[in-house]
Amino acid sequence: MNSWETIIGLEIHAQLSTESKIFCGCSTRFGDEPNQNTCPVCLGLPGALPVLNWRVVELGARAALALNLKVNNRSIFARKNYFYPDLPKGYQISQYDQPFSANGELEIMTAVRDASGHPLEWRPKKIRITRLHLEEDAGKNVHEGLPGVDRFSYIDLNRAGTPLAEIVTEPDFRSSWEAYDYVNHVRRALQWIGASEADMEKGNLRCEANVSVRRAGDETFGTKVELKNLNSVRFMQRGIEFEVNRQIQVLESGGRLVQETRMWDEHVMETRPMRSKEEAHDYRYFPEPDLPPLVVLDQLIQRVSASLPELPDARRRRFMNDFSLSFSDASQLTSERSLADYFEMAASKSENPRAVANWIRSELLRELEAANLLPSESPVSAEQLAALVRLIDDGTISGTQAKEVLVEMFKTGKTAAAIIEERGLAQVSDTAQIDALVDQVLAASPQQVASYRAGKESVFGFFVGQVMKASQGKANPKIVNERLRAKLSQ
Ligand SMILES: [Zn+2]
Repeated sequence: MNSWETIIGLEIHAQLSTESKIFCGCSTRFGDEPNQNTCPVCLGLPGALPVLNWRVVELGARAALALNLKVNNRSIFARKNYFYPDLPKGYQISQYDQPFSANGELEIMTAVRDASGHPLEWRPKKIRITRLHLEEDAGKNVHEGLPGVDRFSYIDLNRAGTPLAEIVTEPDFRSSWEAYDYVNHVRRALQWIGASEADMEKGNLRCEANVSVRRAGDETFGTKVELKNLNSVRFMQRGIEFEVNRQIQVLESGGRLVQETRMWDEHVMETRPMRSKEEAHDYRYFPEPDLPPLVVLDQLIQRVSASLPELPDARRRRFMNDFSLSFSDASQLTSERSLADYFEMAASKSENPRAVANWIRSELLRELEAANLLPSESPVSAEQLAALVRLIDDGTISGTQAKEVLVEMFKTGKTAAAIIEERGLAQVSDTAQIDALVDQVLAASPQQVASYRAGKESVFGFFVGQVMKASQGKANPKIVNERLRAKLSQ
């Protein structure tokens, strides 16, 4: 394996989060009755004219700037011609030689993984992004769940004309995991700035990979294969991994690769041919005569740039500096914007941000996941979580009790203080009260005291247990330990 180098380039199609389509007023709502959201424009009826939805330009500019691309002042829409039943016009309005934005260089964090996919060490890597352009989506052919599907194909044009940003990289990835980390970076950035839901399972983020291998040290690229049907980031990583190994095997056994498109089949875990280069489309691009050049003024670019929030990587670095969090903790807390907001609010209300981070990562996220809620929808507010952490730090309750309290807070929306009061959970940390219990236990166990003083250390646990029992579990165990040691050494 070491004598081979892997070369990967990626294309991402992300649906921009507009309410209406790119060239008409039809809704982009997901899951409506088939063909309900259509009009003469997106049905491609003769004489219908496209009008650009300006929201697409704003979201496209947000996406381009968040990925460190340059937004061009002037770009051209072009017709990409091909025939397919879900494309009623016979062409897709896209962009070709003068795209919306280009020439980006994005720094991502990437890690080499062990065999089970666990990251070993994170390091930065720069990826060149060739372009981000705007285009319309096609409709959908439906082959399942309708009468007579063995004889008919059905067509749903609700998706036709939905706005997409196509993001294309240079062949800069050297492993499937680098591609994986990049797609996750882009996905998180697009969600973070509200440009796209970027959910691969829903199909509003789609990914294709160009994969080739070459002997280490070779200057020229090997024959490349285009991989499709990569329906999650993990599937993509596995698909690329399989394809790399397949190509190496073919070459090492003296075979030749053909330039082709292959699809990843997750069920059988292999790629198989879809179409060869001979069947590749000649799209015959030409400028769209029904749309003027798209002019984006510098003022707009500046306004969009100023409206962008602090981006995830900058926020992760700030969390590491301001709150002394590790890279992996800070990464997890910036995996999603509402989680980062939640943590930051809780940390600002607490004197113990690291404990807050731990409580969110271990306990709160589990509850949120089980209830299928976002951090912004948490029944336990950030302020209340900070209050809970304070009650642990000042010894009012133990960490174990706090776990139960948090579950109850989550269920009922009550504050930690109210639940502690109701359940009588408050720990006894008062030394005089604990001393009285310690004296009582020692007086009642003269034999054990004698054997402890004779050197039998193991009896100590017995005393702790007795004092805790006498306090009905409420004594602060740390103070019980301290007081017992003090009394027994007298
Ligand atoms: Zn329409």
